[in-house]
Amino acid sequence: MNERAYFDWNATAPLRAEGREAMVAALSLPGNASSVHSEGRAARKLIEAARAQVAALVGTEPKNVTFTSGATEANMLALTPALESGGRKEPRDRLLVSSIEHPSVSCGGRFAASQIEQLPVDSNGVVDLDALKAALAKAERPLVSVMLANNETGVIQPIREITAIVHAANGILHVDAVQGAGRIDCDITALGADLLSLSAHKLGGPQGAGALVRHSSVVGGIQIAEPLIRGGGQERWLRAGTENVAAISGFGAAAEAANDARQADAIRMAALRDRFEAALKVHTPATVVFGATAERLPNTSLFAAPGLKAETAIISFDLNGVAVSSGSACSSGKVQISTVLTAMGVEPELARGAVRVSLGWTTTEADIDLLLNAWMRVASSLLKRDQRAA
Ligand code: PMP
Repeated sequence: MNERAYFDWNATAPLRAEGREAMVAALSLPGNASSVHSEGRAARKLIEAARAQVAALVGTEPKNVTFTSGATEANMLALTPALESGGRKEPRDRLLVSSIEHPSVSCGGRFAASQIEQLPVDSNGVVDLDALKAALAKAERPLVSVMLANNETGVIQPIREITAIVHAANGILHVDAVQGAGRIDCDITALGADLLSLSAHKLGGPQGAGALVRHSSVVGGIQIAEPLIRGGGQERWLRAGTENVAAISGFGAAAEAANDARQADAIRMAALRDRFEAALKVHTPATVVFGATAERLPNTSLFAAPGLKAETAIISFDLNGVAVSSGSACSSGKVQISTVLTAMGVEPELARGAVRVSLGWTTTEADIDLLLNAWMRVASSLLKRDQRAA
């Protein structure tokens, strides 16, 4: 079978045409953006144009955008005790992270293990706000990191409420907005977050580019007193090293395209995702869709059928022409029980079978047909076999 359908957009999205064109154009330029000659200034111009495009995606001014090699680096840059608020040179004394964060946040950045506390979530994977308040009460100058939307379930966090709680407790809020950007409104001012991480390759830009964005209206501003990568004045001394002009350009162009198409894409993806989930329930009524009653991204569905094993299901989907992933697309390539589902209190037996389907702006009805046909085959063969082996 030659026909294939790609349903792993939360792992990475295909490069948008706008992103590719911008990258190809940038690759033809010889200049280093730090050079003062015309070639250098041309490279600088591309970076600054991209900065404006990324800033527009999150509703801020270009000067608040710092380019990085991706969201992992942006998260590492943000999660440091050396964050100064309102000009006060006092280190953050505690890091509170939700228990469903991406590993680049849950590892705690540059905080000591003894300073990090995990916040529980409810059965939908939404942060427990009472637990947040209780944890904040124990810290003097906390930094809190909560993601906008979860990469496995697509569940969206109540960031505005969290902002109000964190700020009332003298805290700073960092939001990993990687999965939300380009899919739902990601305006940093509306969200109220102090710092926001973005990744280019989830919204149609290249892999290996991202940004940390600062809120502009914090009185006195949030200063990152310790860069992660030192040794040069690039990115206003926050990120040393010659800029990857082509990747940054591709990021900017993709951010603009994603922003322009966001609302129409979201409506289309949600309709396709809902059609898939409805059919899933009809064909295999015992299937559980995780976070189904919570507010979710329009493109994500994480589900499991009792008795299913994710590793065999993914291979079987692949043989049927469909690329899906397990709940946690583990970077080591192994399928492990998802920490997100564990934090949500899902039984390990069910969590072992969690399969994630994530859609994108080119997903069609025909792709959903292929996915459903594949599921029918996977369900009838694997469910029987895995149940026999259990
Ligand atoms: N945070 C979230 C929620 C993610 O899904 C990812 C990518 N899987 C990252 C951070 C890391 O992004 P990057 O690949 O740009 O390092």
